[in-house]
Amino acid sequence: MNASDQGTARGGLARWFGLGGTRAAAEAPHANGDPAHEETPAERRRRHVLDDICRFLHSHHLPVSGQTLTLAHDIVTGANPALMRQVSDHIASGAPLTIEWLEEAVQLDREEGGAQQIHTLVRKLEVAIAEFASTATEARTATSGYNEALAEQVDALDDECRGCTTHGAIRALTAAAREMLRRTRDIERVMTRSERETLALQQSLEDARREAEIDHLTGLPNRRAFEAVYQEEFDAAHHAGETLCVAFCDIDRFKRINDTHGHEAGDRVLRTVARALAELSDDKCHVARHGGEEFVVLLRGTELREACAVLDTARESIAARRLVNRATDTPFGRISFSAGVADTSVYTNRREALRAADEALFRAKLAGRNRVIAAGLDDWTGFRVIPPPPFGQES
Ligand code: GH3
Ligand code: MG
Ligand code: MG
Repeated sequence: MNASDQGTARGGLARWFGLGGTRAAAEAPHANGDPAHEETPAERRRRHVLDDICRFLHSHHLPVSGQTLTLAHDIVTGANPALMRQVSDHIASGAPLTIEWLEEAVQLDREEGGAQQIHTLVRKLEVAIAEFASTATEARTATSGYNEALAEQVDALDDECRGCTTHGAIRALTAAAREMLRRTRDIERVMTRSERETLALQQSLEDARREAEIDHLTGLPNRRAFEAVYQEEFDAAHHAGETLCVAFCDIDRFKRINDTHGHEAGDRVLRTVARALAELSDDKCHVARHGGEEFVVLLRGTELREACAVLDTARESIAARRLVNRATDTPFGRISFSAGVADTSVYTNRREALRAADEALFRAKLAGRNRVIAAGLDDWTGFRVIPPPPFGQES
């Protein structure tokens, strides 16, 4: 589309929105194509939004559809700030903005938005409960102290005034005070009970949050937990000027294990690989199950080649094992994984880095599997490739 076509498209869209019949009318500061009509600020704003939407769709060669118009609107007006940021980072990285990329970004944004909302609500609930617990404890302690002091005074007053002319009135007063004390003691007991219940609730919330972040098959942190850690680590590493590498690992020919040995045996193999990768975990290395037979590893303070070497050692050690299916006593054959590793500092945002690691993983699969490939280091073949598995003809 040349400039004139673009103008025509814009004019068409503007016309469709009832903002002028010709290109000239769409670009002129008059609404409805009437030169006598002075454009109002609201009309001008609308025209600018339309122009921006057209320019956005046109410059990224995106099709015009209900979906892309909505997305373009949310991006150019900033109605979806997270998506707008992602898109501008993506454009800044020089990568093409495709409809597939946009759909994926929207999907992730939705998933993260939902998870984030739940996380925020849980955090708020935790803070409210913690505040309630401390107020309740303070109130109970104060009530208890006040009760003791009051009880002493009431007894003393009763003793002192015995036989006095005012004893009748004093007795009525002390009886009322004793009744009040009895009731506040009841309240104290109720408060002690609710304090205990609040503590239990705090513990359950903490447990539920931990549960929601764990993958139950492998015991590793799940993708949701990983996303949160990745965001934190990415920001912290960039802030401190430290290296942070991200790796995508995928078990090779895993479907074949399920097909040959059954799903349950497949689960056991998944757990074995997860355990081996989990051994890498420490305060500088975070391992999570991303989903299916894929794992992600974050390595902070480790250069790209070093990160590849760490993963390659894990790969080699898993591939060297000879696992046997306990249920049938038949060997699984060699279990291996392929991995792609990226240095996040090279990318404008964490998603781009993860995508680069995924692309490197794809290249590792294409190159024959059972290997680690570094994103951006095409010529580097620092790793020994183990010969093909004994039972398979796979590449
Ligand atoms: P490649 O080397 O190209 O990665 O081949 P692959 O067979 O590993 O990849 P593919 O994506 O074709 O198959 C992945 C399989 O992993 C398919 C799916 O059934 C299986 N899988 C995913 N999650 C689980 C799980 O939790 N347990 C079991 N047993 N299998 C799973
Ligand atoms: Mg896979
Ligand atoms: Mg696989």
